[in-house]
Amino acid sequence: MIPASAAAIQLGLAAWLPASMLDWPGRIATTAFVRGCPFRCAYCHNPDLLFPGPSEDVDALMHHLESRRGWLDGLVITGGEPTADPSLLPFLAAVKEARIPVKLDTNGSQPDILGRILEERLVDMVAMDVKTLPERYDALTGVAGSHDAVERSIRLVIGSGIEHEFRTTAWPGALTIEDFPRIAASLVGADRYVIQQFRAAQTLDPSAGSVLPFHTDALRDAARQCNRFVPTILRGAV
Ligand code: SF4
Repeated sequence: MIPASAAAIQLGLAAWLPASMLDWPGRIATTAFVRGCPFRCAYCHNPDLLFPGPSEDVDALMHHLESRRGWLDGLVITGGEPTADPSLLPFLAAVKEARIPVKLDTNGSQPDILGRILEERLVDMVAMDVKTLPERYDALTGVAGSHDAVERSIRLVIGSGIEHEFRTTAWPGALTIEDFPRIAASLVGADRYVIQQFRAAQTLDPSAGSVLPFHTDALRDAARQCNRFVPTILRGAV
């Protein structure tokens, strides 16, 4: 049952996909895109979500989830950065009350909110970005001190007991191939580390798309080295 309180939630819901098999591996899930993000990564693939814009009706999404309950495995909440939206907590509480499994994609920029989400068990899985080494974070995100918040979030996620993965988009503008094992070394105790091949597409900074991706063999080798610290997989490489 959808809680009556859900109708009043003012989430900045930019769009939602009724069903996807790509956003929660092994599951068929609805994917909801929440508007807004404090970071400004040059390679961002969803630049339209970074800025204010119209919102979709949350009630329609909730009714979709309820009506497809029999064959949907859950809801993926992504963005933008969902934890930057003040309505995320009440939204997640309503989804939990409706007993719909949730995966949260986050950049870890809001550890206080993330901590509450984890403590209250409002999600069933977390996928969190670890974008680069600490010393490169501010240049990539455009936010001073951004890695301090991310570091707190890493510890919260690892200690949560909730299924999780950390992931790095392999954009050579913010990383060298030697950086991946150093990132993995900071994730000891995590369930999984995912290196995602960078694909040139629509990017916030148009010049970011012209950066040549790492060679697949180099990423495979980096993933092998990361495996010394945390189970690591490579996604999106052919
Ligand atoms: S890539 Fe993610 S964290 Fe970076 S600007 Fe885009 S939505 Fe924000």
